[in-house]
Amino acid sequence: AKSNSYLFSFFPTKQGYGLLFSELLTSQLHATILPYGSSRQLETELYRFLPDEVLVLGRQSFKKHASFFKQRGFFTTEYQVAFDQQVIEQETSWINQHFDQESVKSLHKDPAVLYATILWKKYLERNQKDALDQFKTISWYKPESFLMLDGATQKNLDLVKNSFDGSRSHTLFSLLDKSVTSMGSRMIKRWMLAPLMDQEIILGRQQVIQQFLQAPALFYNVQELLASFGDMQRIVGRIALDKATVQDYVNLGRLLQVLPQLHQTLTAFSASMMQAIANSLYDFSKLEALITASCNDDFESDCIVKKGFDPELDRVRDLVANSAQKILELEQFEQQRTGINSLKIRHTNVQGYYIEVTNPNLNLVPEDFIEQHKLVNRKRFTTKALQALQFEIMQARQNVSKLEKDLFEKIKREVRNYVHDLRVSAEAVATLDCLIGLAKVAYEYDHVCPDFHDESDIIIKEGKHPVIAATLSNQFISNNTELTDSQRLWIVTGPNMGGKSTYLRQVALICLLAQMGAFVPARSAQLPILDRIFTRIGAGDHLAQGKSTFLVEMEETAQICLQATDRSLVILDEVGRGTSTYDGLALAQAVVEYILYKVKARCLFATHYHELTNLEKEIDQGIVSYYMDSQKTSTGIIFLHKLIRGVADGSFGIEVARLAQLPNEIIDRAQSILSTLHKGSLQTAQPVQKVVGAEGFSAEQNVNLLLAQRLKQLDLDNITPRQALDELWKLDELLSNKNSLEK
Ligand code: ATP
Repeated sequence: AKSNSYLFSFFPTKQGYGLLFSELLTSQLHATILPYGSSRQLETELYRFLPDEVLVLGRQSFKKHASFFKQRGFFTTEYQVAFDQQVIEQETSWINQHFDQESVKSLHKDPAVLYATILWKKYLERNQKDALDQFKTISWYKPESFLMLDGATQKNLDLVKNSFDGSRSHTLFSLLDKSVTSMGSRMIKRWMLAPLMDQEIILGRQQVIQQFLQAPALFYNVQELLASFGDMQRIVGRIALDKATVQDYVNLGRLLQVLPQLHQTLTAFSASMMQAIANSLYDFSKLEALITASCNDDFESDCIVKKGFDPELDRVRDLVANSAQKILELEQFEQQRTGINSLKIRHTNVQGYYIEVTNPNLNLVPEDFIEQHKLVNRKRFTTKALQALQFEIMQARQNVSKLEKDLFEKIKREVRNYVHDLRVSAEAVATLDCLIGLAKVAYEYDHVCPDFHDESDIIIKEGKHPVIAATLSNQFISNNTELTDSQRLWIVTGPNMGGKSTYLRQVALICLLAQMGAFVPARSAQLPILDRIFTRIGAGDHLAQGKSTFLVEMEETAQICLQATDRSLVILDEVGRGTSTYDGLALAQAVVEYILYKVKARCLFATHYHELTNLEKEIDQGIVSYYMDSQKTSTGIIFLHKLIRGVADGSFGIEVARLAQLPNEIIDRAQSILSTLHKGSLQTAQPVQKVVGAEGFSAEQNVNLLLAQRLKQLDLDNITPRQALDELWKLDELLSNKNSLEK
């Protein structure tokens, strides 16, 4: 309910990649073209739409493309279909006639998208033929109209799924999903995965949220009204595909009753986007009257068409009802005639109507009773009169169902005439509900409206991570950000668990929220319109793609260096960690310099390589060091989560390991190795065997190990009580020898 369901048709040609995303229930088609070989951009679009199914032509030469999607976990269909010149010409002529002129014109600009459309049409023709008719226009979009979030960034920022357990909890979407209806939720997800670059539209959304917050009574009123809407988009979708039940029609009728009231309420808002929404809520009073009068809303009964809608239907229905009465009368007549008081006329679907007489009364059965069935203690009969009556009833029933079916078909045809307008209104209601959701988040978590400026500076006062702050509430420590020209690259150090990754993500999420038109978790925010957000956080597991963690890390970093611009935000968390210390440090420094001098993007670079903080002294402008503050106490380390200008004093890795309850022995040993390393630079400390007893363990540990080993060897399922007792004695013996072993 909370996700759009897209079928994605992909077609590569030598000139470019043709992309077509379609949704059956809303009959929407979105198309775009990407340069040939731009797999990162392809990934971006894939993660933006998250299609349920990817369609690739089933040909040997397309195999590598199919594997590209499969490796990323997308359900991929390699569709074997003739795709020669003749088919192309034939299908192009269908496309030319079927779609509106604007769509056809755009399709002919590039063969890749045209072919993707042909492939899609061939597939639908086979699997969902009726749905084809519903698609009339193709909306073209330019990927550069949206803030670019590549696949890695979408995953790293935990937008839809969290990187911890892959579930939907603790994600940005789970926080934002405060809409009243599922269609509102879907719209929120769409906006979140496609933040805008067009400032005017962003400001339009902000204005609506602002007005909701300023008029709580109206805000509440709109929410109440929306509660009656259900999933209008999908109801209309099912109606269009002729898959709707009578309940869908009844629900449509009910929500159409609320539409005028909603329209009226929206006129109280001055925001231009709200006016546009109100104008898309059309007048459906005739349709509403038709549905209310015709569709049966008493779901207990199995009628489809309401009583009183069609006189002829009512007449035959009465006939059926009367015939039931006639059966009763016949039963009474036969009881009196035969003198059998227990005589009953019954009905089964297999046998129809029959007269039932119990064995003691069989001698009273008259001659004209025709025997049908003999049971252990009774017999079933029929009579000419009963057969005639049965025929009459069956006829009436058939008439009712035929008449009802014909009438319902007529009503459905009538409703289908409104489908286009209904879709427009449903989209408007979904947009309204999406804005309601965003306004609720802003209200509940005290988010503020961000300001945009033409410079590239990112200035955030008391910013918070939206998701973690919502969980920790007032325990979350806010931090400022001032990524300005003179401080455009921040080196962030601090202890493990100090909050570096949280801070980096928080800045990216605030920028993303702002560009989707939402409010942000901060006291204030002055932001640029960014073109891209890149993140390289943690070590991703891409083993399924046959790549080592370090290779993936470097590939992602390479993409960032190649694609980021001076209008981008780059988040790098511990780049270089996956290799040897010297290699890693060297690469990290080179990347920092490249981003600072060449790319000139705003960048937050978290690292454990404290050596990098020296760059601030050596480079006079653009780079600064910050650290996440913490305090060492006698009982351990306290994380203050406050970002401070300067360099962290040590990384406290061992303190954090202690918090994780690593055995004391290991902690002590690590501390002694650390002091050796500090003295002798990066040389390994003396191996453990030389310091501790034999095997590197104390005698007591050796005994424990032996005990454990012995216990493990026992086959407990197949041991007798006697043998178990023997084993216990042996273990006890081992323990009593402990002292001698220690010696
Ligand atoms: P590492 O170097 O080990 O990756 P880190 O410095 O990146 O650690 P985070 O993972 O960002 O640390 O944060 C660790 C935990 O600290 C988070 O799970 C969160 O619960 C808490 N935390 C982070 N930032 C804050 C904050 N500003 N206020 C309160 N708690 C925070």
